[in-house]
Amino acid sequence: MMFWRSVVGKLWFTILFLVSFVLFILTVMLLEYFENDRINEAENNLEKTATRISHFLEDQEESIGLQIAWELLDDATEAMIIYDENEYFASPTMEESFDLPVDYFLKDSELNRVFTEETSTMKIASFPVENYDEDSRFLIIGAPIHLEDNKHGAVFIMQSLQVLKQTSEDTKKFILLAAGVAFVLTTIFAFFLATRINAPLRKMKEAATEIARGKFDTKVPILTHDEIGELATAFNQMGRQLKFNLNALSQEKEQLSSILSSMVDGVITFNRDGTILITNPPAERFLQDWYFEQDGRAKSTEEVPTKVMELFQLAVNTEQEQVGEIHVQGRFWVIIVSPLYNNKFIRGAVAVVRDMTEERQLDKLRQDFIANVSHELRTPISMLQGYSEAIVDGIAATEDEKIEMARVIYDESLRMGRLVNELLDLARMEAGHIQLTISEIEVKPYLERIIRKFQGLAKEKEIYLQGNFERLEPYFAFDGDRIEQVLTNLIDNAMRYTEDHGTINVTANTDEKGLHIEVFNTGIGIPEEDLPFVFERFYKSDKARTRGSSGTGLGLAIAKNIIEGHKGYITVQSKAGHGTTFSFFIPRNIQ
Ligand code: ATP
Ligand code: MG
Repeated sequence: MMFWRSVVGKLWFTILFLVSFVLFILTVMLLEYFENDRINEAENNLEKTATRISHFLEDQEESIGLQIAWELLDDATEAMIIYDENEYFASPTMEESFDLPVDYFLKDSELNRVFTEETSTMKIASFPVENYDEDSRFLIIGAPIHLEDNKHGAVFIMQSLQVLKQTSEDTKKFILLAAGVAFVLTTIFAFFLATRINAPLRKMKEAATEIARGKFDTKVPILTHDEIGELATAFNQMGRQLKFNLNALSQEKEQLSSILSSMVDGVITFNRDGTILITNPPAERFLQDWYFEQDGRAKSTEEVPTKVMELFQLAVNTEQEQVGEIHVQGRFWVIIVSPLYNNKFIRGAVAVVRDMTEERQLDKLRQDFIANVSHELRTPISMLQGYSEAIVDGIAATEDEKIEMARVIYDESLRMGRLVNELLDLARMEAGHIQLTISEIEVKPYLERIIRKFQGLAKEKEIYLQGNFERLEPYFAFDGDRIEQVLTNLIDNAMRYTEDHGTINVTANTDEKGLHIEVFNTGIGIPEEDLPFVFERFYKSDKARTRGSSGTGLGLAIAKNIIEGHKGYITVQSKAGHGTTFSFFIPRNIQ
């Protein structure tokens, strides 16, 4: 930094200027004063000498008087004694150096008052004289001489003012010396200030730069107890407060961002011209889905979905919250856009996007469920109605026919009962009220008994049904009744979908993890696209439900619930036309 620009430089300069100014004024005034003083003193002296010469001349004889007069004069004084224009005497040195005519004294209006008024007179006159070339001013004093015979004259004493010059020279020297001392003192003072003011100021500047860089712990040393010390204290306080505020701010920001990122709903903020400012992960997913849908690949998150943009424009224009829906990649999103204010001015908007797919699906599931249940009930009810009507109307002629009809009614009511029971079971299980009665079961005889149940039916359809239990522990713990329900349904399904002369294999084995059971059957299989849905309620691959009374479509949903109740899992593998394998796993130590 330039010295002139620093505070100390300015101070130094100002003080120097002030001192010089004061010294200058002082010089002028002192010179004036000294000159006047010297002139007055010289005047008094000269007047005294003039009067004394005049008295000597009056009292003594002329030649003695003159001699004494010349003796009275010192080196710097000259004298001229004039009686009239013809009779005058100049001091010896005066004759040598001055060429002053007598007329000068007689004609000068000031000086000739000595003759006319007979009083002393004084004049400062200026004329060029040899040896006196520097200052040619002279102080001339005139005093009257009264002689006895009424003759009168005058004595003029003149002294060069050059001596005064010497005095003013001295004064100037003195003042120059003073100025020099002032300069040195001011410079010393300036450097003293530099260490006392500038150094702490510079430290503070460095600290401020550090703080601006984010180092809030920077402290300024407090060296003095003056204003600079107070400034340093205030500065340190400011640093602390700044740190505190910034910490609070960043904490708030962190809190906000963690709230944003942990939110289930997506949040997008826009500025006034619709540019995205902030998004959280769910919003990011929504945008990515949208970009993907636009041209089949993910893009930079610059563009905003058209629907969202429309809502944003509406919200900004009407200054009201806008709600809309958008369907992206098979998911339903509800968007709420509300304007953001900045002192009454809209500075942008915030959009909250909520994935409503689940809710929509649940809604659909509930509607489907009601439709399915009513559909499943309609068939048996209409059968019950038809056959009972026939009996009531006496359409059945023979007893055998009546029994046949009653049998159908009985079967259908059983079916309805089963459906209602299964529904209740399922509802209970899905609500988490599944009660398992776990006990150690001798696995092999248990499985053989279940298979034997179906052997009669299998023979009828000429299906080869067999069990395969090689690596099987004798005992395993599970809920026997529930697992029998699962196996019954799986084998029942297998029987139903196996062509005549087909095969059904039930395999069971245990390993260190638990019990694996597989039911495989040849046959039509399940279409690949239907595989993910087989465990859903009311799912039937036979869409037309032509098999009518064959099943309710709840069996696998119940099975899945039971297996999951055992903390296991059930899977299906199938290839249309080749057969199907249902496998489930029950872990050890279910509790
Ligand atoms: P329920 O078991 O309640 O009497 P259901 O047998 O129709 O009725 P699920 O056991 O849940 O119901 O079976 C659902 C559907 O899965 C069946 O309707 C059938 O379309 C298909 N399915 C199940 N097992 C097989 C299999 N082994 N081969 C081919 N399709 C099958
Ligand atoms: Mg079934």
